[in-house]
Amino acid sequence: MNNLFFRESHIELKNKLLKFLSKEIDAIKDRFNSNNKVTASLIRKIGQGGYIGPLIPSKYSGTDAGLIAHCLITEEISKLNVAISVSRTPCILDGYLLNKYGNEQQKEKYLGKIARGEKICSICVTEEGAGSDVAGIKTQAIKSGDSFILNGSKKFITNVGIADYYFIWAITDKNVNPRNGMSVFLVEKDTPGLEIENPYGLMGIQGVWNGIINLKDVKVSSENLIGDQGSAYLSLMDTFNIERLTLSSECNGISSAALEAAKSYAKEHSQFNKPLSSFQLTKIKIAEMATKLRAARLLVYSTAKLAESNLNITKEASMAKSFSSKSALDITSKAIQIHGGNGYTDNFVVERYMRDARFFQIGGGTSEIQDLIIAREELKGK
Ligand SMILES: Cc1cc2nc3c(=O)[nH]c(=O)nc-3n(C[C@H](O)[C@H](O)[C@H](O)COP(=O)(O)OP(=O)(O)OC[C@H]3O[C@@H](n4cnc5c(N)ncnc54)[C@H](O)[C@@H]3O)c2cc1C
Repeated sequence: MNNLFFRESHIELKNKLLKFLSKEIDAIKDRFNSNNKVTASLIRKIGQGGYIGPLIPSKYSGTDAGLIAHCLITEEISKLNVAISVSRTPCILDGYLLNKYGNEQQKEKYLGKIARGEKICSICVTEEGAGSDVAGIKTQAIKSGDSFILNGSKKFITNVGIADYYFIWAITDKNVNPRNGMSVFLVEKDTPGLEIENPYGLMGIQGVWNGIINLKDVKVSSENLIGDQGSAYLSLMDTFNIERLTLSSECNGISSAALEAAKSYAKEHSQFNKPLSSFQLTKIKIAEMATKLRAARLLVYSTAKLAESNLNITKEASMAKSFSSKSALDITSKAIQIHGGNGYTDNFVVERYMRDARFFQIGGGTSEIQDLIIAREELKGK
């Protein structure tokens, strides 16, 4: 991507980032599992390094480096362990939302803490029966004086258990189409009535905190309403585009790591007195893996470039997400195949890559939903 999308500033950023990752993360990258999760202090280090702020202006402690830079950072962290990146993602998304839709007072109060990694974020949309159907959420926020009272429940929420700021989507006017009756609130973790649970483990992306939040008469000041009342469906759709590019970059980080692992293994291991890499059937796999990864990265960086030019990226972000997530699963599966029996053991990291990759056809909008969006956009007009 160097000569296509990266400017001098991106190359400098990447060199600085690689030094940071080798100092702070390389040694611990394989340690995460269901019992050893990503810590607040690790996220804080990433924030202090300047890697949570690429979409936040420098006025609020961000780096203002832009979306291409953000995708680059995401991909590089994900090459080491995507669970770290997935834990950072809600901070990126809430930071983006707050910067674009929040008022000055909210930005002054919260954005710097997010950018510096001092406060960890979560993005709370999904509910029972309202996953793909985002407009179907039932959580309610009823106005009461200068506050809103929130009741409802959210599931599958990343960073539950570690988050300081819960950004919660709720219906504020049930008499209108939810697309015009939804609002988003910043709720701080110790607010009375906000209860959290972590009742399950995850197949992949282990190390990521995930769980349920229950809201029982949670009183939130109107000052914590982000954007206009009733406007949060539209701001969420905008934020989803950034999420889709972020998750695509996470997929591409995994794919890249899997390809490198497969190439090394194929060169270093032999059967029939020849390295595996000398067999044509291995070469075809490597060729397909490399081509899919390149296509996925081109989709991501070309879409990020469109967004940096203020163009609509709804279709392109879904294309990137759909293609990158399907490619990641195929690439990681081929990497296991090239490793033979070793690939199916936890002595080799490729088995983790495949479990991690499986998440991305579900989280951030399923592949089916991405394909529906792409088809809807293609079929618009005449
Ligand atoms: C590890 C993890 C982390 C997550 N983190 C967060 C988070 O931080 N915040 C948050 O709000 N949510 C989060 N989610 C939720 C995630 O966004 C949803 O799981 C996802 O959008 C799918 O919703 P669902 O699970 O309710 O599945 P459903 O919507 O019930 O889908 C089930 C199946 O039906 C298909 N389907 C549904 N509708 C259609 C349709 N119209 N046409 C064709 N097929 C359809 C789907 O594609 C899928 O295959 C997370 C999920 C996971 C697993």
